[in-house]
Amino acid sequence: TIGVALRQAAERFADNPAICSVFQGQRSLTYAALDALSDQVAGALIAHGVKAGDRVAIWSANRWEWLVAHHGAVRAGAILVPVNPAFRAEEARYILADSGASILFCPPSFRGYSCLSALESISHQLPDLRTVVVFGEEPAPAAMTRWQDFLATAAAISQDDIRARETQVSFTAPCHLQYTSGTTGRPKGALLTHHGILNNGHCVGLRQRLAPHDSICLPVPFFHCFGIVLGALAAVTHGCEIVLPGESFDPLETLKAVEARRCTSLYGVPMMFIAMLGQPDLAALDLSSLRTGAIGAAPCPLPTMNAIISTLNMREITVVYGMTETSPISFQSRADDSVEVRVSTVGAIQPHLEAKVVDPTSGATVPLGERGELCVRGYSVMRGYWNRPDATAEAIDADGWMHSGDLAVMRPDGYTQIVGRLKDTIIRGGENIYPREVEEYLLTLPEVSDAYVFGVPSQVYGEEVCAWVRLKPGSAAVAPQIQDQCRGRIATYKIPRVVRIVAEFPATASGKVQKFRMREMELEQRA
Ligand code: ATP
Ligand code: MG
Repeated sequence: TIGVALRQAAERFADNPAICSVFQGQRSLTYAALDALSDQVAGALIAHGVKAGDRVAIWSANRWEWLVAHHGAVRAGAILVPVNPAFRAEEARYILADSGASILFCPPSFRGYSCLSALESISHQLPDLRTVVVFGEEPAPAAMTRWQDFLATAAAISQDDIRARETQVSFTAPCHLQYTSGTTGRPKGALLTHHGILNNGHCVGLRQRLAPHDSICLPVPFFHCFGIVLGALAAVTHGCEIVLPGESFDPLETLKAVEARRCTSLYGVPMMFIAMLGQPDLAALDLSSLRTGAIGAAPCPLPTMNAIISTLNMREITVVYGMTETSPISFQSRADDSVEVRVSTVGAIQPHLEAKVVDPTSGATVPLGERGELCVRGYSVMRGYWNRPDATAEAIDADGWMHSGDLAVMRPDGYTQIVGRLKDTIIRGGENIYPREVEEYLLTLPEVSDAYVFGVPSQVYGEEVCAWVRLKPGSAAVAPQIQDQCRGRIATYKIPRVVRIVAEFPATASGKVQKFRMREMELEQRA
């Protein structure tokens, strides 16, 4: 279990730094200190009546207390429910109610938004929520508990009782109720186990060749698997330090944290690396400590990958592919893969997992090199979606294969390309159109900075191609000019019938563009 893994880390790497929160006054904890504080949280949760399998939520941005609350909760056998700090009252209410969380950790506020007043407005709709623990030093409002006061309640529980609880927790037990990003619709809660996420974190660390002297700079949030599994759990299993540059992503602060803590690994989604590489003061920073890292969640453009390697010195950077439902990583590139391989594929399957690419209609495995739906099977596949047996049955088949909903091509050497999402495939008059292909063409046009292609309903063809385009600064191109440049260059049926020039795109908190919302807005425009 994660509790035991932390215990072992505290024995092996006692005085090694486990976490340093740069923006919280450089607050650092060694592995021994993290272990001791996690015992305190576990004890306090037991004192508050939390039983194995109970849900404990965290609605907070990254901070050192997040990690302590996580370790304490899973050590006590609870199921941790991370909630996006950007969520507002109604969104948080949905997840807290859906999960039935009895304890919630949160900061007083996040980027000027008062989580505490939000909670006061929704608490009457949350009958299961018994205790709100407020991070930080400030006194908590009435009916809520200050962090230090909460920790003090652990005094009533003996060390033996905490150990007894820890050993009762099975490695097959669920420990995280992890909500998906909401790229294709409302987020779904995936039930993940100790065994699944702990081993996944360890394996992702192996391909980065992490060792106890490594230090991982983590500008990605803990509330997604990227932060908690690839970050915190890879660190625990390899004895590394986690460095927190800020409560939300700031490119310059992140690079300064790398310099200050001599980080060897840096994580991010492509958008973050693009922002960091665009910093005017880049050359003045000493980033020579960097060696490796993890980039994923969306495809990385070639110029970005080249700059990550040459300018940020991350010559061993690994590309990761996965989904919340598989704890999360199933494919990862290797330290010595070529740049070409790192931009065109997501690497090779992770140890102890199986993958296949199937025809989405017949379910038959397609020949290597052909497009189909990527399926993954093995230790890391979730138990199921929380309270949604129908959705679970649709996602995981009788043989245990998790259907990713992603379109992929597997090369003969097993390295795999992600070519789009199955749901995004446009079927126009019986002809399959892959949005990614049209997007790639639009991106070659000199005026176009970003382009997203999706299907909208059509009376004649069933579906029609629609493109949302953002222009490069200074360009005044209009929609028909974009369409004109498609004529004769791509098949006529693939040319977008609707081209809309926009300033920005709807996106998730993690920076993934939400086509379902663009589609909704198109339909509203028509109505
Ligand atoms: P939802 O399931 O709620 O619609 P989501 O699928 O974006 O949202 P996540 O589980 O966070 O939620 O993301 C997994 C998805 O992210 C994958 O299915 C895939 O489409 C995409 N993805 C992850 N890594 C990569 C990568 N390296 N390259 C391309 N796409 C990726
Ligand atoms: Mg998904």
